[in-house]
Amino acid sequence: MARSGMASLDPARPLNAIWKLHAEDVHDFAWAVMPSRSWGYTHFEYRKTQIFYYSQGANSENLPRQHEAIKAALRTSAEWFFPYPYPVLTVVDVPEEARAADGMEYPTLITAGSVPFDPFHLRMEPEGVSVHEFGHQYFYGMLASNEFEEPWLDEGFTSWFTHKAMQRTYQSYFSSRRFQVGTDFGEWIAYWMAPSVDPLTQWGFRMRDRASYFRTAYAKPTLVLNQLEAMLGRPVMEEILRAYTTEMAFKHPTRSDFKRIAERVSGRNLGAFWQDFVEGTDTLDYVIRNVKTAEVMQGGWMESPKGPVFGAPQSVAPGRRGSITLERRGGLRAPITLWVRLEDKSEQRLLWDGQARWITYEFDHPVVSAILDPDGNYPILKDRLHAGYSAKPVRRGFHYWSQLVWGGLTGLLQGVGLA
Ligand SMILES: [Zn+2]
Repeated sequence: MARSGMASLDPARPLNAIWKLHAEDVHDFAWAVMPSRSWGYTHFEYRKTQIFYYSQGANSENLPRQHEAIKAALRTSAEWFFPYPYPVLTVVDVPEEARAADGMEYPTLITAGSVPFDPFHLRMEPEGVSVHEFGHQYFYGMLASNEFEEPWLDEGFTSWFTHKAMQRTYQSYFSSRRFQVGTDFGEWIAYWMAPSVDPLTQWGFRMRDRASYFRTAYAKPTLVLNQLEAMLGRPVMEEILRAYTTEMAFKHPTRSDFKRIAERVSGRNLGAFWQDFVEGTDTLDYVIRNVKTAEVMQGGWMESPKGPVFGAPQSVAPGRRGSITLERRGGLRAPITLWVRLEDKSEQRLLWDGQARWITYEFDHPVVSAILDPDGNYPILKDRLHAGYSAKPVRRGFHYWSQLVWGGLTGLLQGVGLA
């Protein structure tokens, strides 16, 4: 029997197989039973936690992967929050006919299905789901915010944690030397499909539809927390999360608890950030609208003392000139940096205040490459894919389309796979 907490048989009634379950500081119990022959059972100890795996025969090859992911989650949660305090964790791989029970969380028990066929590790499914459901031990289990009224405090923080743990352990999805897909890519795609439907403050049962629930409860919070980290810096963000989870464990925090603690720890007023990203639905959306090269010519019909004369058009110094137009497509305004390299190999960093709808920068030489937000101050930007410009478009095209296809796939998997 897979279950929450520790189990023991009643010694007074050994033949009746009455299991006694015991767990401290939990708000729920769960258990699962199967005929023992169809369930693989393995047990590990890691960092003083007994981990029990119940796996399906066909999926048994995924067990080492699942175990690696759980270890990664235990490590990452100790870094960002506090060490997992329970002595046990049970991980259940549900059978095919019980798929609906997959990807669920209960105190000290999670269902984290693995898939029988995944030879190239493309899906990262046992890893992603295991880490995600484990993350719920904190936000659903110990902090236990109101999941109906503020689902982002549970699903959102858990999705953000999944991204952090996956990034730390596996770096990226679909890793290759040249091409990588960030571990928050599914959330990024999902958010930008329709970013302005519901604010994070919307009650879960009032969201427009299921898709908006997924976007608002899971996807947007991941990006908003990334955005907060980019603004405050990693050390401060770590301190905020540690303070929030430690102080609010067993206290059912609301979003104002998070804001209060984040402001106290960072020493910053987060009012504007809160209004823009938590209460609001406007987007931060800047793009490189176009990059142009113009030939500077002289010639054609010109005035002279003897009347108009025709001169053959020819290039004059400085010859070819470049220009870049940036555009603000969203309602939120923020200063943003543009980095450019010109044909004469010189480089420039320009800071636009981002207030107007667009701005054009002119250069004495054609633009060879350009990057908007080169320091990654705005990880929430939609234009993460084509915020860069390169005069060699072929390679960029390949990366662009493969990222788009892969991102769509990941988003879809997460959309149907995670609870
Ligand atoms: Zn979840």
